[in-house]
Amino acid sequence: MTITIYGSGVSRGIAIGKVYRLERGEVEVYEAAIPRHLVEDEVARFQRAVEIARQQLRSIRDSIPGSTPVDITDFIDTHLLMLDDSLLTAAPVELIRQRQCNAEWALKAQRDALAQVFDEMDDPYLRTRKDDIDHVVTRIQRILLGLDASSEEPAAEQLRGTIVLAHDLTPAETALLHHQGIAGFATESGGPLSHTSILARSLGMPAIVGTHLIPQQIRDGSTVILDAGHGMLLADVDDATLKDYRRRRRKEQKRRSELNRLKDQPAVTLDGIGIRLLANVELREDVLAARRAAADGIGLYRTEFLFMNRSDIPDEEEQLKQYLSVMKTLKGLPITIRTLDLGSDKECGAEPASEHIAPNPALGLRAIRLCLKYADLFRPQLRAILRASARGPVRLMIPMLSSARELNEVLTLIEDVRQELARDGLAFDPDMPVGGMIEVPAAALSAGLFAKRLDFLSIGTNDLIQYTLAIDRVDDEVTYLYDPLHPAVLRLIKMVIDAGRQQQVPVAMCGEMAGDPVYTRLLLGMGLTDFSVHPTSLLEVKATIQHSRVSDFRDLVDDILAEDDPEAIASLLSRLNQI
Ligand code: PEP
Ligand code: MG
Repeated sequence: MTITIYGSGVSRGIAIGKVYRLERGEVEVYEAAIPRHLVEDEVARFQRAVEIARQQLRSIRDSIPGSTPVDITDFIDTHLLMLDDSLLTAAPVELIRQRQCNAEWALKAQRDALAQVFDEMDDPYLRTRKDDIDHVVTRIQRILLGLDASSEEPAAEQLRGTIVLAHDLTPAETALLHHQGIAGFATESGGPLSHTSILARSLGMPAIVGTHLIPQQIRDGSTVILDAGHGMLLADVDDATLKDYRRRRRKEQKRRSELNRLKDQPAVTLDGIGIRLLANVELREDVLAARRAAADGIGLYRTEFLFMNRSDIPDEEEQLKQYLSVMKTLKGLPITIRTLDLGSDKECGAEPASEHIAPNPALGLRAIRLCLKYADLFRPQLRAILRASARGPVRLMIPMLSSARELNEVLTLIEDVRQELARDGLAFDPDMPVGGMIEVPAAALSAGLFAKRLDFLSIGTNDLIQYTLAIDRVDDEVTYLYDPLHPAVLRLIKMVIDAGRQQQVPVAMCGEMAGDPVYTRLLLGMGLTDFSVHPTSLLEVKATIQHSRVSDFRDLVDDILAEDDPEAIASLLSRLNQI
């Protein structure tokens, strides 16, 4: 009978292969008292173990070929950096000296203290950074205990095409296993936001994590199916199921390799309209993914993530460093840095207005409204973005604009900051493009006014739909009303695109609607030429663009825009997508 194990699917895809159980065994650590005169020897033993861990990680990094289609060495570098962090290396030394205890125990005590800090974090992404600490700590513990991992590494030929089952995998192990040709993996621990999971996604490797227990009945060498999209591992399957999954895998592999081939191809329609495909990013991993998907640049960098989950506000220098680091990863591709969109559902512990609970936060003091009210919060960001513009192609984008008065105020402030930087002798690009997001119906209805004064516009459909249809985007109860095809929404989008065209100002769309291929032809027919989408959607959108001849369906798109009946709109859209 089929055994089904459920976990969190961290990537899409189906893998079928023989099981390879990677048993590492738990590392057990006990406290031992160290005589005073041997304490410094114990410190030296700990420091040697850290150095060996460093050498191991460097050698794993060096064994990964440069041609690997992903910047996986970054994940290993994160662990190497942790080995230089005093929280993991100096603090245990202090503990060995203070408590006169063994190195293993001191390291465990420090690990537990750090884990508690991470457990208390609200942000699920940061919380899972605890996994990275555990991976580094376990590596050092194994060295201290003489259980050096490298002696147990399986040979590549044993691994090729297998599905690895393990209690946990570090990013370094995952990178190596991928290099050794495994088909996928399932781990008992780990969450979908861990670095290992992010890496599996980036590598396009089917994987599930957090299965809690993988029973010993699933033996080495037996055939299993890993259905990552559905978060399932199937063992002891019958022939019919196996056949069905093989067919599904073939279909999916074909689709994936077709999409991958598009990376180096331009996004041009069949009738020769060139489209700019940009990426939306929040975290560093997204920037790497954007590069891998060969995005034309970043169309939306949500900077508020830098401000979340901390009790202080990042200063100008910290922000500048962060922007420059993202730009370095982009290697010269243009980046659109959106100024702070805090407030409403995006909270920041240190936010000046955080004590004030707005009765209706989405309509309250958020984004540019908050920034204009609290110049101390906004000016350092404007300075940092302008200073970053001296080092590469940067555009600044303002969220949630709603009126000419607000626009005047923000443009005056930017000019003021430019003059201040010049007085301070700090470099910036005086021609750095300044654009605005059109997310409020009032802004869409008066898009011409914004197009006249700004260098570019970007339609934020997530908020535009929320405000046009009066649907709180975070309230599950009204999700069913969230409708990008509502005639009011479509007409507002069209007005913005037309206003941009009239003023010869580029208009992009960076809301989720832009990344859903169901709407790609509709948007092309409305005249949209710049799409900013999540990196994982980019190639699918590109595929649709390449299969579209806009001149064939412009009339149909006009019909959709003139239609009021939702069912008629849906049926016209389906006709449009079948052309
Ligand atoms: C939007 O509103 O469409 C948008 C892209 O901004 P955010 O989702 O960050 O509010
Ligand atoms: Mg928005």
